[in-house]
Amino acid sequence: MTTSYDWEAFKASLGGIRCHDEVNYLAARSRDYFWYSPILNEQLDGIIGDLLVVPQSVEDVIAVAAAVARYKIPLTLRGGGTGNYGQCVPLEGGVIMDLTRLDKVLEITAGHVKVQAGARISRLDDAARETGQELLMYPSTRQMATIGGFIAGGSGGIGSLRHGMLRDPGNVTYLKVVTVEPTPRLIELTGDEIQKVQHAYGTNGIVVEVGLALTKATDWIHTAALFDGYGQALRFAASAQEDGLDCYLLTAVERRFSPYYTKFGKLFPADRDAVFAMVAPDEMLRFQAKAEEMGGRISFAKTKSEIRAAGLQPAYECGWNHTTLQALKVDKGWTYLQVAYPPAFDPELVERQMARYGDEIFWHHEMARMGGRIQIFALPLVRYRGKDQIYRLIAELEDTDGCTIFDPHVVTIEDGGMKEIDTAQIEFKKLADPYGLMNPGKTRGWTADMARVD
Ligand SMILES: Cc1cc2nc3c(=O)[nH]c(=O)nc-3n(C[C@H](O)[C@H](O)[C@H](O)COP(=O)(O)OP(=O)(O)OC[C@H]3O[C@@H](n4cnc5c(N)ncnc54)[C@H](O)[C@@H]3O)c2cc1C
Repeated sequence: MTTSYDWEAFKASLGGIRCHDEVNYLAARSRDYFWYSPILNEQLDGIIGDLLVVPQSVEDVIAVAAAVARYKIPLTLRGGGTGNYGQCVPLEGGVIMDLTRLDKVLEITAGHVKVQAGARISRLDDAARETGQELLMYPSTRQMATIGGFIAGGSGGIGSLRHGMLRDPGNVTYLKVVTVEPTPRLIELTGDEIQKVQHAYGTNGIVVEVGLALTKATDWIHTAALFDGYGQALRFAASAQEDGLDCYLLTAVERRFSPYYTKFGKLFPADRDAVFAMVAPDEMLRFQAKAEEMGGRISFAKTKSEIRAAGLQPAYECGWNHTTLQALKVDKGWTYLQVAYPPAFDPELVERQMARYGDEIFWHHEMARMGGRIQIFALPLVRYRGKDQIYRLIAELEDTDGCTIFDPHVVTIEDGGMKEIDTAQIEFKKLADPYGLMNPGKTRGWTADMARVD
């Protein structure tokens, strides 16, 4: 244990709140999916926290927040631990707080849900479905990720094609945040104020409750269309989006991924490029007609229960960062990048990139929407040849091709997706985490001199 903290006094002040200090337990709860990046793996592997606490209620969270503030112990929050950038790694040790017991769905009304932050997204979406509604979006880690972790660490995902990214107005409606002070306060945020905490990696307040917009549920058809050429597949996906086909997911995956999609066999053969999709049932005929018109054919089309019964993965586990996971399960020599294409999307640019990089990069593209406009992303697999090669590649994709890279090989918010310090988030941190205890090292916007001294 990091000896500079008064652990005995800290534990005593927690009353009966569940704690663990067994090394195996701590090691498992100090990690996330940073190992996708060999660069982060080298930097973060082996770092572990000192004590895991598992609150069962908001009152317990408040007690932990008060105690870490009193004893000035670093605090790292953890939901499902599925982040990709070491977001959950306690760089300075200290307390890890597992929030997954805060899992109550508090209220579902027409068009809205209020839920505790530690609820698993799958449970939340299933609860919404019981009322004939569904979430606007979820990450492909729907099964394991929590809604609080998605808001603090994620950006968008399945559903973003239809509803935009998490940060687009109206998607997240409400957050209740516990401050980290000797006498913690509860702060409620609505409307644009939510941006103060959203995607802040748990550096500026403990989110305990979340309000989200819901939409009418659709029994999406999980399907794939196959094409003889990735350019064709990509043009079909882009054109289906432009035509407004009602889809929840449109993911183009090139044929070289086929050996990694082991469950699909002939449904995703090695000589065809695929578009995995979730399509509204009453749009399926139009989807099929369009695919055929553009030289493709439907490989399969099943409801979610039929997909499960057939032993296949749902389409949402065939896209976003699950493509990387499928590949890494088979071949550890890969890593990846996150690429945003400049509008208007030009499939010829992708074809040039494919020719330029050959077997060094395998491509996969996501049709999405951001700020009300179409936005195409890629999460390509990159054959890892060292850090210098990764940064040469990033520079080339940005300077030559006009793409924007959200670097997944760094731990700070700013070096990754956000690119610059969000001063509103830092101002909020001064209120919600005045001693700078939360997830230290994850924001470049906070410096030691900003911490309150008392
Ligand atoms: C295979 C795979 C696919 C993925 N696909 C997507 C995708 O489609 N879209 C996407 O956006 N992301 C994706 N991700 C990243 C990640 O799964 C999501 O962002 C997920 O929502 C994180 O949720 P979590 O509960 O696991 O968060 P965690 O990993 O536990 O935490 C993420 C961050 O949030 C903080 N945090 C957790 N709970 C709270 C809280 N209550 N209050 C304040 N801060 C908190 C943590 O400290 C950490 O910094 C993917 C990752 C993998 C491995």
